[in-house]
Amino acid sequence: GADRPKNVLVLMSDTGGGHRASAEAIRDAFRLEFGDEYRVFVKDLGKEHAGWPLNDMERAYKFMTKHVSLWKVAFHSTYPRWVHCSYLAALAAFYARKVEAGLMKYKPDIIISVHPLMQHIPLWVLKWQSLQKRVVFVTVITDLNTCHPTWFHAGVNRCYCPSEEVSNRALLEGLKPSQIRVFGLPIRPSFCRAVLNKDDLREELEMDPHLPAVLLMGGGEGMGPVKKTAMALGEALFDEELGKPIGQIVAVCGRNQILSSTLQSIKWRVPVKIRGFETQMEKWMGACDCIITKAGPGTIAEALIRGLPIILNDFIPGQEVGNIPYVVDNGAGLFSKSPKETASLVARWFGPDRDELKKFSRNALKLAQPGAVFDIVKDIHQLLVQQRGPMAGISYSLTSSLSYPI
Ligand code: UDP
Repeated sequence: GADRPKNVLVLMSDTGGGHRASAEAIRDAFRLEFGDEYRVFVKDLGKEHAGWPLNDMERAYKFMTKHVSLWKVAFHSTYPRWVHCSYLAALAAFYARKVEAGLMKYKPDIIISVHPLMQHIPLWVLKWQSLQKRVVFVTVITDLNTCHPTWFHAGVNRCYCPSEEVSNRALLEGLKPSQIRVFGLPIRPSFCRAVLNKDDLREELEMDPHLPAVLLMGGGEGMGPVKKTAMALGEALFDEELGKPIGQIVAVCGRNQILSSTLQSIKWRVPVKIRGFETQMEKWMGACDCIITKAGPGTIAEALIRGLPIILNDFIPGQEVGNIPYVVDNGAGLFSKSPKETASLVARWFGPDRDELKKFSRNALKLAQPGAVFDIVKDIHQLLVQQRGPMAGISYSLTSSLSYPI
């Protein structure tokens, strides 16, 4: 009936921090916008309901990002549609039953995929279950510019693109304009709606109240030249003539424990905060004046919302390359692979080039799309209303002994 809460299944995979962050952003926005009308389940479908290699994606991803050239090969060799399609077809045939069981368990009225590899299989399963007309299926793309073609599937009700660049790609891949919406990357509501005061945050986080602060991070896994950059900053932000620091450092190492213990063991001449995986990134960003990070889409979009000038120092080949021109061409930051260069740039921003820092900050704010996640969930709600009419429900009568057309 109309009063039953609608089930939303968000399909993600814990590769890096970005997909989970986007998935949780969507869940939180549903709760804030619609309260009890929706029940949102965020599920790592690969891990829970399929077998290798889908359940191993997280480990494979970590391995690949450590062996970057291999990841490059994997990314580009699966690029042509026929390659990934036949690969996924084989996978789908093998895992469809498990995927199906996962879908049936949560009886979704809406499925939201925030992962490049979670279009084909779930859509096939829906088709086999004759549910594709009744379950709303949408993709929320979490890459800002260049993205893998497996993100795009003509069978979706909507494809939410974070930027015009991505929506152009969607069109090239054969999606219709009516399927595409461009709202921005979904960022956790705690970022968009928080009213944060820098002085209060610094007190809460036990930072120096006056010194300008640089936030140094490398995604959920603490990747990229974080250690070298931290050490270069330690030098550049100490004024030898005055004999005192001109800035402070916050290093968020994510799940990289080796990195955080290495940084802990260094003797610093400037104030430094070394943190592991932080759950309140909006506070650390709100307390700092600029950020150095690899080109992760989540971190970039969050930094833009906080108006932080961005120095990109690394990227995952393939999907993150395009995030660099997105930041640099829009005047929200710069790219440098050299820790020394990065550190002296920050030192200049905290000294003679303060105006430049402010200019980058204004451009960052212009590019920010804090409302994107709410636009997305409202649009999904509208889709469901249009598709169903206000009274219709959905019954999941599982016909589990399906024979698949493979
Ligand atoms: N993040 C976090 N705590 C940490 C480190 C990272 O919450 O200690 C979040 C960060 O705010 C962002 C996400 O993890 O939302 C990282 O996503 P991104 O797309 O930048 O990179 P990925 O880790 O997916 O490669």
